[in-house]
Parts: sequence; structure tokens; C-alpha cells
Amino acid sequence: MPFLKHIMSLTMGMLTVSLDAIVANWRTLQSQVGKSVAVSAVIKANAYGLGALRVAPILYDAGCRHFFFATLAEAIAARPSIPLQARCYVFHGVPKNEEALFAEHYLIPVLSSVAAIEQWANWRNKSAENALPCVIKFDTGMTRLGVSASELESLCREGSCLVKANPVMLMSHLACSDEAQHPQNAVQLKVFQKVSNVFRELFPNAKLSLANSGGIFLGREYHQNLVRPGAALYGLHPTVNMNSPIRAVVSLALEVIQLRAISQSVSVGYGATAQANAGQVLAVASGGYADGLHRLLSVKGEGVCCGVRVPVVGRISMDATTFDVTSVPNIKDYLHQSVVELPLMIEVVNDALNLSFISNRNGNLGYEVLTSLASGRYERRYISSSGEGNGSAE
Ligand SMILES: *Cc1c(COP(=O)(O)O)cnc(C)c1O
Repeated sequence: MPFLKHIMSLTMGMLTVSLDAIVANWRTLQSQVGKSVAVSAVIKANAYGLGALRVAPILYDAGCRHFFFATLAEAIAARPSIPLQARCYVFHGVPKNEEALFAEHYLIPVLSSVAAIEQWANWRNKSAENALPCVIKFDTGMTRLGVSASELESLCREGSCLVKANPVMLMSHLACSDEAQHPQNAVQLKVFQKVSNVFRELFPNAKLSLANSGGIFLGREYHQNLVRPGAALYGLHPTVNMNSPIRAVVSLALEVIQLRAISQSVSVGYGATAQANAGQVLAVASGGYADGLHRLLSVKGEGVCCGVRVPVVGRISMDATTFDVTSVPNIKDYLHQSVVELPLMIEVVNDALNLSFISNRNGNLGYEVLTSLASGRYERRYISSSGEGNGSAE
């Protein structure tokens, strides 16, 4: 597949998403936390760019019953692909006066301020039809979304507002879970335990949830009742340099649209920042920073062509990236072929060049790499044991 261009497409290469690997990662995380802990799936930002409508159903089939979105709009768009037995949550809570949409689509808001909790409690109180529960989020040290620990404690002391809001889960979020040794993890855990004990006295059946992908690997205390992985499902290893059990999910191959034999020293690309010398062969691949590649390849980037590692030469352009393919065996045989018949592809993400590796090397978060790829002008292919399929992913 990397060698032969097996589809002639009008796009810029092939982004392959293994749904099987996503399911395998979900199962790996389930075995990591044990049967008593629920493993949800965070499918916000269109499942980190991979396609929520494709990812959610296969995880439901695998046994996942809790799905998290960031916004109401993305949750409404994906809700029809998830059976009603599963719970779908919206991290960003309720947009002004839109409570009824939560009822209509059977979505559960995550409430992060006292005002939002009061508003939800009032809305529920208005009509017996407004019977939906909510999730309460509180801040244990990240200072992003969530009521403060002391606000939550006073809501618990007062009681009636929380009871009217009907929380089925209490959650918080870790700021440093990808650094196992970071002291902030233990600090946040301690606050979580203290406040959740108070909360549990009022709501003994509510689930407690603290861990994202990284948190799952910090140890049992962090698992609570429900874990919320996103990155690990999609093949991002939660901690740097860990011998991770997480499987790669995404691969990306770009089409070569021009080969060029260099006969004398020349500069390459915008800014003339790189040089090529006589005897070298350069390949221009279709795909550039408009397709998310600036993050992938900007520093010491490389791809794989016919099994050989090939370095990026010069700056990445908006739509094209140049590689030095001199070391690819018999590359000169292709020099005389016309552009449309070039059978070469260059892989820029595969099992060896995985997202964690690329992002470590470039000092960029794998999260950014993954979600940037989603914007690319690629053909998409989904691999799953229940059948392969091309397709756009909404
Ligand atoms: C995005 C998000 C997650 C998932 O985090 P990963 O690091 O991708 O596993 C979990 N919880 C909250 C609140 C989030 O915003």
C-alpha cells in the first residue's frame, strides 16, 4: 500500500483509521482499570478528528456506555449514532436557555458553576418532563472549568439546590496526568477524595470520575468509578517514554506528485533555507501545513518511502512537502514517468513514525498533531473487522 498508489483520488493522500485498534485500546484500558470501573469514551472534537460517527458505534458495540462531548452542537450531531441506553454528556454545559435541547436529544450537561447548577435545578423543578440528571464538575487545581471545592462544599451543606439538580456524577480533571511524577497529581487526588466524600453522603449512588487517559496509568486511587480516556483510545501514548500497551490507530500516506533529479547545487523551498546537491533525488509530496503537516514535520521531519526513511528538505509549504528520496532503491527508474502515473507514496504517520514519537521530536503535543490531521484534504479509510470502508467522517 505505501508503495503502490492503489486509489487514484482527487485528494492529497490517504488517512487510515483503524477502528479495530480503537476498540483494542478501549479493551486494554478496561483491563487496566478492572471490571468494577466504567471506561467511557471522550469523543469531543469529532473524536479528536477521527470521526465521532464512526467511532461511537463501534465502542458501543464493544460495551462502552458513557460518551463525552465538548459542545451541545457536536453532541446533537452524533447522538443518533449512539443507542439511547448509553449516556451522552456535554462538558461545556448548557448554552443560555437551551435546556430543552438536552431533553430532546437525551443529553446530560456537565455543570461547572454555581449559577449553572441553580439554573438547571430551576428548570428541572418547572416540569415533571424535565427529569434529566446532570454531572457536577469541580476544580481540584487545574483552574479551568468547575465550581471551586469550597463552593461545592457549601452547596452540599445547603443541600436542596443540588438535590433538585439531580447529579449522577461528580467529576474533576487532572492538569498533569501525563507526568506521573508531577506532585500536582497527588494534590488534586487529595482534594478530590476530601470533597467527594462529602458529596457522596448526599448522593451515595453518584459516580465519581477523575482520570483522563494519563490518569488511568497513575494507579488505582485515580480510577474512582469511571475513567474518561480520549487520547489513549486514538493511539496517543499517555506518558512519554512509557512502554505503552496502546496501539497505533492512524496512518497517513501522501502522494508523490513530482520527482526531481538534482544536477547542481540548488536551494529548496521558501526562504531558501535548505540546499540540495548534484546526485540527489527530491520528491514533492502532496500535503502541507494546510493539512496539519506543519506540526508533524517542521523540525527534523521524516517520512517512509518504499520502506526507507526519507528526510524532509526545507520548509513545508501550504500544499506540498519536499523529501530527499535519494536513498530509495531504484528511485531513478521513476524519473521518467509522468506525474499522474507516479506510483509512489510517502508515509508520514505509521506504526514506526507514530504520533507520540513525532510529537516528542517536535515538541508538540500529540493531541495537536492528531486534531490537525483532521483538517487535511485526505481520503479517509476506516479499517474494521466488520468491513473496510472509505468515507468522510462528520
Ligand atoms: C478532553 C477531556 C478528557 C480526555 O482527555 P485525554 O487526555 O484525551 O484522555 C477527559 N476529561 C475532560 C474534562 C476533558 O476535557
